[in-house]
Amino acid sequence: MLRYAQVCAFRAFGLLWAARWYVRRHGAVVLTLHRVLPESELERSGSLPGMVIGETTFAALLEYLTRHCEVIPLTIDPAAKRRTPSRVPVAITFDDGWRDTFTTALPLLERYKAPCTVFVCSGLAGRTRPFWPERVASLWAAAHAAGNGGSAVTALLPGSERGLEAAIECLKRFDPARRERLLERFEAAASAKGICLKQDTADSSMDWEDVRSMALAGVAIGSHTSSHKILTRIPPAEVMEEVTESRRVLQEKLNKCCDLFSYPNGDWSEEVKHSVARAGYRLAFTTAPGIWSAEADTLLIPRINISEAWVTGPSGRFSRAMCEYRLFWTAAWAHFRAGSRQNRAGKP
Ligand SMILES: [Zn+2]
Repeated sequence: MLRYAQVCAFRAFGLLWAARWYVRRHGAVVLTLHRVLPESELERSGSLPGMVIGETTFAALLEYLTRHCEVIPLTIDPAAKRRTPSRVPVAITFDDGWRDTFTTALPLLERYKAPCTVFVCSGLAGRTRPFWPERVASLWAAAHAAGNGGSAVTALLPGSERGLEAAIECLKRFDPARRERLLERFEAAASAKGICLKQDTADSSMDWEDVRSMALAGVAIGSHTSSHKILTRIPPAEVMEEVTESRRVLQEKLNKCCDLFSYPNGDWSEEVKHSVARAGYRLAFTTAPGIWSAEADTLLIPRINISEAWVTGPSGRFSRAMCEYRLFWTAAWAHFRAGSRQNRAGKP
C-alpha cells in the first residue's frame, strides 16, 4: 500500500513519464519472468511469490506492452533504429524453462504476437520439482500444515527462524554438495514425522518435446546452464562444463545455434563471464536492474524482474502506474546511478 502511494506520487509529479523518456533515450528494457500460473494453480506451486505472475495479470501486462511499448526480440540491437521511435523497446525473457512457460505463457504471447526468449537448463528437462527451492518450499508448507512436529523439522534449515525466504537465501550460499546433504537430512527428518511431498506436477520443467515446440513457434531458446548451479560457487572447470555442455545439448536437440545465456540467480564474476565468452555466447543476461544500452557489456546485460506484486495495485489487479514504475523507474534509476559511479571513478 505504501509503495502504491509512492508510485502514485511519482506519477503525479511526472517522474514515471520522465523515466520512460530516459529509458527510450538510452536503449531498451529486458524483463525477466519465471512462472505464469493460472489462478487455480497458484496455491499448488512451491515457487516463491517473487517468481510468479498470475495468468490474468500476465495477459494485462502483454496488453500494456503491445499497446504502449515496442516488444522486441533479443536479436535486435537496442541501439538499432526503431520501427516506432516514440515507444520504449522492451524484450521479454523467461528463466528456468518451467512447463507453464509453454502451457500458459506461450498461448498469450502468441495471441499478442509478442516475441520472447526462454532460458532453459539442458540437464533438467522434463522433471518434477527440478530446482531445490520448490522442494524446500513444498516440504516447508507440508511441515507447517502438520503442526508442532513440523516446526522442529523446518528448524533444521539454516536461517529458518527468519522464515522460508531467508532459509532459501541462506541455502543459496552453500556449496551444492553440502546443500544436497542438508536437504536430504531435512527430507529424512520430515519423512520420520510422516511429512511427505505429494506427487504434484504443478512445479515441472518443460520436456524436450515442449522446448522443440516453443522453438518451432518462433521462441528463441537460450541456455541457463545444465543444472542451474550458481556459477560463482563452483570451481572454474565445473563452470566451463555447465556453460559448454548446455550449449552443446541445446544446439543438438534444436538443431540451431544457441548464443544467448542467462546466469543462474544472476550471479557472475569476471572469471565466470570469461568462461561464458569462451563457450561461444554472444549475449548474456544478469538479474541486476538497468537499461540495455549500446554501451552495456554484451555479457552483462541488465534485466528487470517481474512478478505479480510488481505490476498490481492494492486491488490485486494490473496497475499501469506500478508497471511503469517497475519497468522504467527501476531501470532508469539503476542506469543513472551506474553512470554516476563510473564518473566518480573517472572512467570514460
Ligand atoms: Zn534461474
